Amino acid sequence: MFNYDIAIVGGGPAGLSAAYTAGKAGAKVVLFERDKSIGQYVRTSGVSWITEMNNLGIPENLYNPIKNYRFISPNNEIIIKGSKYRSCVLDVRSLYQYLSFLAAKAGADIYIKSEVIDVLHSEHNKRVSGLIVNTLKGKIDVSSTLVIDASGFNSFIGRKLGYVPNWKRYGVGAEYECYCDEVDSETWTLMVGCQYSPAGYAWLFPLSKNRVRIGVGIGKPESNIDPINLLNKIIEKKLKPLDELGKIQPIEYHYGYIPNQGTRDSTVFEGLILVGDSAGQSNPLVLEGIRHAIEFGRLAGKVGSASLASNSSKNSLMAYETQWKNQISSKIASALRVQSRWIGLTDDEWDREISILTDMTEEEFIDFISSEFSTKKMIKLAINHPKLVARQLFNLIIKK
Ligand SMILES: Cc1cc2nc3c(=O)[nH]c(=O)nc-3n(C[C@H](O)[C@H](O)[C@H](O)COP(=O)(O)OP(=O)(O)OC[C@H]3O[C@@H](n4cnc5c(N)ncnc54)[C@H](O)[C@@H]3O)c2cc1C
Repeated sequence: MFNYDIAIVGGGPAGLSAAYTAGKAGAKVVLFERDKSIGQYVRTSGVSWITEMNNLGIPENLYNPIKNYRFISPNNEIIIKGSKYRSCVLDVRSLYQYLSFLAAKAGADIYIKSEVIDVLHSEHNKRVSGLIVNTLKGKIDVSSTLVIDASGFNSFIGRKLGYVPNWKRYGVGAEYECYCDEVDSETWTLMVGCQYSPAGYAWLFPLSKNRVRIGVGIGKPESNIDPINLLNKIIEKKLKPLDELGKIQPIEYHYGYIPNQGTRDSTVFEGLILVGDSAGQSNPLVLEGIRHAIEFGRLAGKVGSASLASNSSKNSLMAYETQWKNQISSKIASALRVQSRWIGLTDDEWDREISILTDMTEEEFIDFISSEFSTKKMIKLAINHPKLVARQLFNLIIKK
């Protein structure tokens, strides 16, 4: 039996960040990642926001800065030209490995190619007491006061214990990271409408002048199409704006799932915390969750280590749930309402919808697309905007 204070399932941004703060607080921490290396399989397209990355202390060399935002619909096209770099495309593998260095330096033990296959708990009240893990050193039992489920979309521990169900609404995305002859490295592009994705969108996210992620996301259960089929078609036909890129040569293939139905109701139990995608903390508007995974991973590690003195009872973990819910629950609910509207739009409606975005200031647009809605600003927009269709969109955000 291996003994730890805190055992973490999953070496994505949430788990690695929890390991970092828990280690820093002096807890004895272990993290298990089933893949062969941290960041081995990229399952994300890595768009984020520079202010948030700065606040989290992420070094500038781990992302490509973006200042312009382009939207393409079947018969319309807009570009919002920014005055400074506010968004970014992350070098995902390097970022996750950077987070793993922070965790290791803070004292956490990290086991790679180690799949958690079961959870130890009392039959009586399901109090979690550890994990069973297939590691490169063989199968081990790990005893811990607290388990942090940072297993991503699968919510492996939460589901195993019957605390949370499978996600019913979710996004699935396929993406190639490509060499291209000519990329505008300061502009990311979202493509909407049926030819790109009947219930979702396609994207072009640049990492440098010659490197770009091109992908397609599909909303389930609205569509049954496999996004890789659409992605291949878009590239073969060189649909706009791919016709501007010259040679497109895929060098990596990424595929992933993301919850898209809002947050889990409960994310703390006796001896257990759910964090990151496992807890449904991503922003459903543009399927974006890395910054929340890092921020709330760190919070989970901090509250989790403080809870050890109380045997990590549910009560002692509540501070984690209260804080993250206060910060993002209502924003995620608003984003979901906008997203439900977007999933149902026809091509003509999309042509009109993207025009609304050009009527926003740069700040309003960033607030909107990153779901950092300031209710005050959105009420102003909902009341004052000259176009009815825009007022309807902003009203969705402020509706309770
Ligand atoms: C197509 C797509 C595009 C996206 N685009 C963006 C974007 O542009 N910007 C953004 O911010 N977010 C984006 N996201 C969302 C983002 O990737 C997630 O919100 C984020 O990765 C969540 O982090 P996490 O640590 O909770 O989970 P994950 O990153 O999924 O990490 C979970 C880890 O747990 C491991 N694991 C799972 N089960 C076990 C087990 N039993 N034992 C051991 N290890 C296990 C997995 O191998 C994985 O490494 C996208 C997601 C998808 C699917």
